[in-house]
Amino acid sequence: MIKKTVHLFVALIIISVSSCKEDSTNKYQLVIANASLFNTKTLQVEGNKTVFIKNGFIAKIADSKSSDISLTNTINANERLLTPSFIDVHNHLNFVLGDTVEITNPQEFETARRLLTEQYIPYGVTVVRSAGGREAHIPMQQSWMKTDPEYVDYYPTGGALVSMDTKFYNHVYVGDSTEVVRKIREYYKLGIKHIKVYSLIGEPEMKAAVEVAKELDMNIFGHIENQIISIEAACKLGLINFEHAKTLFLEVIKEYEKASVDLSQLPPDDQENWRYREYEIFNFIGADSPSILKLIALFKENKVSVTPTIHLYAHPIGITNEALQLSLHKEDQLSWSPVQFERAKEGYEELATLIYMLHKNGIILNTGSDTYEPGKAILSEMLLFNELGIPMNEVLKIASLNSARSMNMDKSFGSIEVGKKAQLILFDKNPLLDPLNLLSKKTVIKDGYIWKKK
Ligand SMILES: [Zn+2]
Repeated sequence: MIKKTVHLFVALIIISVSSCKEDSTNKYQLVIANASLFNTKTLQVEGNKTVFIKNGFIAKIADSKSSDISLTNTINANERLLTPSFIDVHNHLNFVLGDTVEITNPQEFETARRLLTEQYIPYGVTVVRSAGGREAHIPMQQSWMKTDPEYVDYYPTGGALVSMDTKFYNHVYVGDSTEVVRKIREYYKLGIKHIKVYSLIGEPEMKAAVEVAKELDMNIFGHIENQIISIEAACKLGLINFEHAKTLFLEVIKEYEKASVDLSQLPPDDQENWRYREYEIFNFIGADSPSILKLIALFKENKVSVTPTIHLYAHPIGITNEALQLSLHKEDQLSWSPVQFERAKEGYEELATLIYMLHKNGIILNTGSDTYEPGKAILSEMLLFNELGIPMNEVLKIASLNSARSMNMDKSFGSIEVGKKAQLILFDKNPLLDPLNLLSKKTVIKDGYIWKKK
């Protein structure tokens, strides 16, 4: 018995000496000492923490000791806020590379990857998912699949699936359920893990897409606005990730059309007026409409996630933060009268109210850009969430943990925990104290390296 105890004692000494030795040598790739760590699961800040990073992953988190700061490869955070990095679940490469650009030459793949990265990492976004793109870009996206500390992590989806041939370059036509299954299996073999469906898809095709995605453990999400399939039908078939909060209003207006409700006071549904018409639809229906409440209840029951993309509606009416103004593009140069601008602002308020109601009802919101200058757009989306009433700690969770969860990737991303990827933001000024500090200087850690523009 005594002998055994001695052995145990010796073993303990060896363990403690070796762990001590490990900490004091160059074992860690990076150590962030004395940080105020933001816990996205509890929404609390945990002060005085040291995060140890090894091989791109978080290896250990401990209470800070003064010796931590003397380790090599150490950043002294000086109590600054450390958060997980942000995620964009809704990118289209054409917004970064140009609408008409198609890159198929392998020599150009890396330049494009850098261009994409520079649109994101300076804003704290390190994980990006495509929401549908050109199939011609799949070889380039495959070359980006091996993660690299210099670049954002990019998750392709292939083209958005449609069963009506739109000839739009970000869509791929699948004529029937057999075609849907064939296409998704083809994507799976190429290493693609995320599938996008668009509203111009029939019910049998949607059913097939949801089933095969489930079988292959692929993540499926959709932009559904009651063109061929309704949100309700898609949800009942098992789709749980929905894009654009505005689609709830569009769903209801289609119901009104079917019920022959008089819609003559709405602007015409044509190329020139479609955008202004959307704001007027928000006004016409209102966030407190019983049909909207029914959809919220449906989402709640089915544990749905929604990508609001509210920025897309704030930007044309000029209410985004000045520092985050995107350059105006063709479709944003609107020739509205002052009265129309005021009406659009009222419509925006209805959309904002709806997003707040979704959040309050426990619907998982996430962050998607769906526009040019996407990294900037993600920060703008976050500030707009805060302005509509969501506290900053919850906003930080939406951009990290919620977004990772709705991509089914929260094993790797979304919180600062042992075993997760070391993709972090160290803020010079704390956004929990003032939301505008979200725009303050950031040290972005990508896979354990401090990212710097080349
Ligand atoms: Zn989109």
